[in-house]
Amino acid sequence: MGHSALTATTKLCAIIGNPVEHSLSPLIHNAAFDHLNLNYVFLAFKVEHLREAVMGIRALSLTGVSVTIPHKVEVMDYLDDIEDVAQKIGAVNTIVNREGRLFGYNTDCSGAIKALEEKRELKNKKTVLLGAGGAARAIAFGLKEKGADLTILNRTLKKAEVLASELGCQYGGLELMESFKPDILINTTSLGMYPQVDATPVRKEFLKGMLVFDIVYNPLKTRLIREAEQNGCATIMGLEMFINQAALQFELWTGKKAPVELMRNVVVEKLS
Ligand code: NAP
Repeated sequence: MGHSALTATTKLCAIIGNPVEHSLSPLIHNAAFDHLNLNYVFLAFKVEHLREAVMGIRALSLTGVSVTIPHKVEVMDYLDDIEDVAQKIGAVNTIVNREGRLFGYNTDCSGAIKALEEKRELKNKKTVLLGAGGAARAIAFGLKEKGADLTILNRTLKKAEVLASELGCQYGGLELMESFKPDILINTTSLGMYPQVDATPVRKEFLKGMLVFDIVYNPLKTRLIREAEQNGCATIMGLEMFINQAALQFELWTGKKAPVELMRNVVVEKLS
């Protein structure tokens, strides 16, 4: 919305993180608010003192907040209520303010699972998840809930072990990838992310006959996705998860159906 459309009743949503300067969330949510003519505005706040920032959400009656690195875990300590799956994952990326009570959600999990389920049923599918960081945790709990046959592979073995023991699944080092023939391969490591666009977690010759999902969305088409396509694999780009998680946030904050195509278009235009 233009500045002249802001009024004394404009609702404020925001992202809190550190850093946040390169976040695409203001772009995507403001475009969606404008499109539906909603009297909302979205800003980005670089936050160092998280507790005080959450007190600010209450004190200033922000409507909704997106939470990003490094605050997704600690923020849970300051909320009134947390949905079950976010509690299990141990991370919140979305806050909804309902009359002064702050509710925590994890839309990374549902956003990723939605992108996968649009292509494949997950039950009993041999699924290899590369990485054991924050995004991996969110996706791993979702996969387990859907009954996927999950293995977690990570560079730092200890982190894979910790996550796998919480979930009751197999784990190993990244190099084991080459001894698997999964139905579904998911990359949640940052390998291939801008500016290291020539990096990839798996050699091309191993990308055969599987669905490949790379959650990295900058660049839109990572080397992993390009090579998987060249070998005839079905693919899902990180953009789909990013759009899905933002659309779910938008719906939680506004109660309106998100204009998903428009949201996708503004991100594609920005990253192309
Ligand atoms: P994180 O918690 O820092 O985890 C990073 C993961 O990448 C860890 O498993 C780490 O392994 C691994 N890794 C990093 N550098 C590596 C290297 N050189 N070789 C092998 N493994 C390496 O980060 P995160 O929040 O999970 O995010 C991971 C990626 O997902 C980022 O690129 C982020 O932009 C993207 N992401 C996308 C979406 C979306 O909506 N599409 C959402 C969230 C995140 P170690 O444990 O060994 O360090």
